[in-house]
Amino acid sequence: MEKINSLLRALPAVHEVQARLEAMEEFTAFLTNKGDKHRLTQVIRESLQKIRNKILRGQDESLKESEIWPYLIDDVRDALRNKPTSLRRVINATGVILHTNCGRALLAPEVAEFVAEQAQRYSNLELDVETGERGSRYVHVEKLLCQLSGAEAAMVVNNNAAAVLLVVNTFAQNRKVIVSRGELVEIGGSFRIPEVLKVGGAELVEVGATNRTWICDYEEAIQPETGLLFKAHTSNYRIEGFTHAVSSQELVELGLKYKLPVVEDLGSGSFRDGLFLGLQPEPTIAQAVQSGLSLVTFSGDKLLGGPQAGIIIGKRELIEKLKKNQLTRALRIDKLTLAALEGTLHLYERDEEDKIPVWRMLSKPETELRAEAELLKNGIEELAYFHVEVQADFSQVGGGAWPTEELSTWVCAVRPRQGSVQEFEAYLRTFGVSILARIKKDWVLFDPRTLLEGDREEILSILSQWTGVYMET
Ligand SMILES: *Cc1c(COP(=O)(O)O)cnc(C)c1O
Repeated sequence: MEKINSLLRALPAVHEVQARLEAMEEFTAFLTNKGDKHRLTQVIRESLQKIRNKILRGQDESLKESEIWPYLIDDVRDALRNKPTSLRRVINATGVILHTNCGRALLAPEVAEFVAEQAQRYSNLELDVETGERGSRYVHVEKLLCQLSGAEAAMVVNNNAAAVLLVVNTFAQNRKVIVSRGELVEIGGSFRIPEVLKVGGAELVEVGATNRTWICDYEEAIQPETGLLFKAHTSNYRIEGFTHAVSSQELVELGLKYKLPVVEDLGSGSFRDGLFLGLQPEPTIAQAVQSGLSLVTFSGDKLLGGPQAGIIIGKRELIEKLKKNQLTRALRIDKLTLAALEGTLHLYERDEEDKIPVWRMLSKPETELRAEAELLKNGIEELAYFHVEVQADFSQVGGGAWPTEELSTWVCAVRPRQGSVQEFEAYLRTFGVSILARIKKDWVLFDPRTLLEGDREEILSILSQWTGVYMET
């Protein structure tokens, strides 16, 4: 015990290590950019934490005071050589499935393999192998999209924001677009329907009130300059109480009467409804098509569970016009995305939705969630540095899908015996593999719903290195 204490006392502070290393020529070589100093501090902090843990655990009986500095210098040198990439893996323990900050939908493993193959090999991306002539990149997913949705035609662009922009620009440039005041959506990351219309060159005509819009509101607003009738899914909020919204069918009838295209932005479009999960009914992609809409747009990386993409389906004649717009070239989907999308659509075609991570996470049974939370708890209990218990809680879908729904889950709730939950949460985010967890009151919650194979072991390993002291200088 005495030896441990004297070793701990001999540990230098972060700024002492920093000053000494910065005076050494070999380390000044690492300090060429502005951010490098910060990174050096970070690396020193981690090295100190490692050696502190070693001492506390008495792992290294033979460690002498005189070896502390050489250990630190070697360890920092090694860490600096392995310069990390900026994009890194994160363990998502928040229970938010479509976590916007963490890259939304995950690809199924076999889809990711297909993408890796396409990335390293030449392909028939724009080649018609029958004729040897130039082909279209869109054919690789169009048939599948039509088959799965019942639409006549389909095309894909970079993301759903681009899809809406392209549609507006093609059919309503220098014209007017009628939208209900209840549907002037803003999505995180500054996508706003009114702004997108403006960039697309259209003029917005707002109708109805925030809570109530009727079909006659649309009809009264129709003028010779009207280019299209637009409906947006209120994906990340819900207007409740004294409300009325116009259905897609009603709008379609009005569009037919005045020969105007009717477009709906579904946001997080889904091929499946959430009824089997006990979630509120939301129109599926196929139902939207069936209602007779001219065009329907949705994201590839929300409930579809594929890559970032914007999917547009609907009437052939209109899709052909979209393809001819010059903007299409600027908004076009790249080959890796196309591969990921085709792979994901094949899973739907084969009724293998269970292989799609988003759907697997959505439908994880409570018994399984509870068992996983218990397993994590058992592991953490052995570490002695924590209070830990299993609690009932809620996960979220995220990505603006089912915004008001909460999915029952079981979480492993952890509280460090020393240090604050805020410090502990910061440690989880910044030490080694970043672990994103949720703070609730004075607990840090780990939700097994979004954990993947191997995550539990890594969480335990990182927790085992926590000693109640972090971020001290
Ligand atoms: C998410 C969303 C968008 C934006 O889609 P991206 O694929 O992120 O560009 C547009 N409209 C609605 C209604 C959405 O929910």
